[in-house]
Amino acid sequence: MAWIIDLDGVVWLADRPIPGAADAVAWLRAAGQRVVFLTNNSSLTEAEYTAKLERVGIPASTDELVTSARAAAGLVAPGATALVCAGPGVEEALQARGVKTVREGNADVVVVGWHRDFDFERLTAASRAVRAGAALLATNDDATYPSPDGLLPGCGSILAAVVTASGLPATVAGKPYPPMAALVRQRLGTELVDSTLVGDRPDTDGLMARHLGVDFALVLSGVTKRQDLPGEPAPDVVADDLAALVSNARRGGPAV
Ligand SMILES: [Mg+2]
Repeated sequence: MAWIIDLDGVVWLADRPIPGAADAVAWLRAAGQRVVFLTNNSSLTEAEYTAKLERVGIPASTDELVTSARAAAGLVAPGATALVCAGPGVEEALQARGVKTVREGNADVVVVGWHRDFDFERLTAASRAVRAGAALLATNDDATYPSPDGLLPGCGSILAAVVTASGLPATVAGKPYPPMAALVRQRLGTELVDSTLVGDRPDTDGLMARHLGVDFALVLSGVTKRQDLPGEPAPDVVADDLAALVSNARRGGPAV
């Protein structure tokens, strides 16, 4: 069994670590349980993710990361040209796959991911490429993104602008869609049996857990608050945060 742990809203809120998360991960590892980090946020490179995890007290290797940038890149044929309407994580994943990346002009595919410098020029370049024949692919469609100051527009908000301007629907790679599920299955193999997926959003993490056939532990340290419960799909277990969830599991609670 393994613990599949979402990052935004579970381990951190933007750049602020969520208290107790690092100790909880350390306890799981010390108990011999495998931990994999799962994120729909495609903005950072894998090295930036492992550095950020290290900063919050969680040493991790890139083998322990499953990102929507990887899931999206896996849908693009090596040798193709991709117009990147996304951050460095998407650029890196595409290039690692042997895909040529551009920021404007014609392309085989437009890849949309969350990035804070999205603007009218990016929207114009992306929608023109799609209208000229490119396929439209998104790393994820989360409407919002949790931060210490409240919700920020998520990749789904950027994607909605590109879809509207392009006149075409998108294929979405990240949670809860099949490409990300396939990547998790490939990474965990037989260890997926009896695993728990910990996340802060029923509509992505919860559905992903259902698709994978694993338990869904909902934590209330991110987007979902107690007044939003039970949510759809309903979680198997609810905890205030990862620390409380693992503490409950240590006492023999329902998450183990
Ligand atoms: Mg999250």
